[in-house]
Amino acid sequence: MKITHSIAEYNAIHSALQRPAAPRLAFVPTMGALHEGHRSLIKLARSLGDVVVASIFVNPLQFGPHEDLARYPRDLPRDRKLAEAREVDCLFVPDAAAMYPAEPLARVVPGPVADTLEGMARPGHFTGVLTVVAKLFHIVEPDVAVFGRKDFQQAMLVKQMVRDLDFGVSIDIVPTVRELDGLALSSRNSYLNPDERRSALVLSRALRTIEQTWRGGEADPVKVQRAGLEAMHSPGVIPEYCALVDENVQPVTRVTAHTIGVVAARVGKTRLLDNVVLGEGIGADPRVTP
Ligand code: AMP
Repeated sequence: MKITHSIAEYNAIHSALQRPAAPRLAFVPTMGALHEGHRSLIKLARSLGDVVVASIFVNPLQFGPHEDLARYPRDLPRDRKLAEAREVDCLFVPDAAAMYPAEPLARVVPGPVADTLEGMARPGHFTGVLTVVAKLFHIVEPDVAVFGRKDFQQAMLVKQMVRDLDFGVSIDIVPTVRELDGLALSSRNSYLNPDERRSALVLSRALRTIEQTWRGGEADPVKVQRAGLEAMHSPGVIPEYCALVDENVQPVTRVTAHTIGVVAARVGKTRLLDNVVLGEGIGADPRVTP
């Protein structure tokens, strides 16, 4: 596996890869502290591309001033081993100076979908996300890029950007990988102490409640949402939102099998999010193998 911190060096690796025949390049952008969720993205990328490039970049542009940029978990030696074991061909690990030698003035501003849910909780977040994804797509030049359903709104906005700005990259989405007890894997789970780890189960529990309420015959989104919010009430947990939306992140007027339940909560100081497609249920999501 090649590893590079420099855009120029990546370009040289990319040019060499083009000979003798241009391979199909599959790309997995991440912020590192890799876990089984990332592994499943890499696994899909491996099956989609002749060459797999993964990136690790903790993008300052998508963090608010009071968020966890400085303490975001970083462990390159471990990430490197994991990427190598999953047969990543090239690991691109630029630092902030390489990506933003000067304050970026041109940015990708998403549409109104970015003002709801995560976008409302984290103003400017999705502008930061789309700007870095656009830059990474220009540098890496993938044919296909793989994202996780775990960040459902992000995946949807990336798809929208690719369509609206004619990126010529196809986007594949991987189901959320969970712990055996239902907690969605996240690099931020490492912030949780044992009590908080237990409390964090309220998110997947709320998604199950939403699903069960709908399966019990309730199609009114207000009532299903209320059930979800009630399930999130727990000591040490501050629910942020619980919403029922369609695949375009628009609120639904009637809950169906295609409706997506999205939740976010603060557990101690850690913000966690999760979602479920009601007709599929979180029971269908892959679990980490012990
Ligand atoms: P991150 O490193 O958290 O920015 O995530 C990089 C990619 O991995 C994003 O496309 C995420 O949606 C995806 N991802 C994160 N957690 C999971 C998970 N538990 N299951 C599947 N994909 C995930």
